[in-house]
Amino acid sequence: MHARFPDFRLGKVLATSFTATLTERCGDAVERIPTPQRLVDWLAVNGLAVESCTTAQLELARELRESIHAALTAAAIQDSLPASAVHVINDCSLQGRAAAVLTPENTRQWRLGPDSRVEDALSVVAADAISILAGERDGKLALCASPTCRAAFFDASQSRTRKWCEMNTCGNREKKARFNANKRKSSRTAK
Ligand SMILES: [Zn+2]
Repeated sequence: MHARFPDFRLGKVLATSFTATLTERCGDAVERIPTPQRLVDWLAVNGLAVESCTTAQLELARELRESIHAALTAAAIQDSLPASAVHVINDCSLQGRAAAVLTPENTRQWRLGPDSRVEDALSVVAADAISILAGERDGKLALCASPTCRAAFFDASQSRTRKWCEMNTCGNREKKARFNANKRKSSRTAK
């Protein structure tokens, strides 16, 4: 149905899945929530279904997204967090109503306020970013090694040596580029 829109990049961490709705920030950026409906779709996929979304709410979501991106990036390089970004994240966290409930399968589900507004859903995303930034979770923040991406990601691997935000995209592209460079080199030496 939404074939003309770019796919979502979904990971295991809500906050960085959200920042990955804009990819290739340092190259030809790809906006993966170009319309309010695409934000509704993204929230539904992430268990945060909302009734509707206005253009202003999409703008708020993008403001939160770029604030999370700025804060995670600063944290990854052990810089102090930009105050304006922290302000936006805290504001979004404060403005939403959401509660965690336990399902019969013992999984956590988010129950949004009675009118399921975008603000309620964003407060869950903001709280997820806060828990990472506060160092509450087992893992390490790092920046993707791809020069056109540089996305901040949360490395929860045992060795903490992940280089790319995603193996399937940035990782494979880098591997392919290296392979082609080596092939060019070896064909030159063969001559
Ligand atoms: Zn990347």
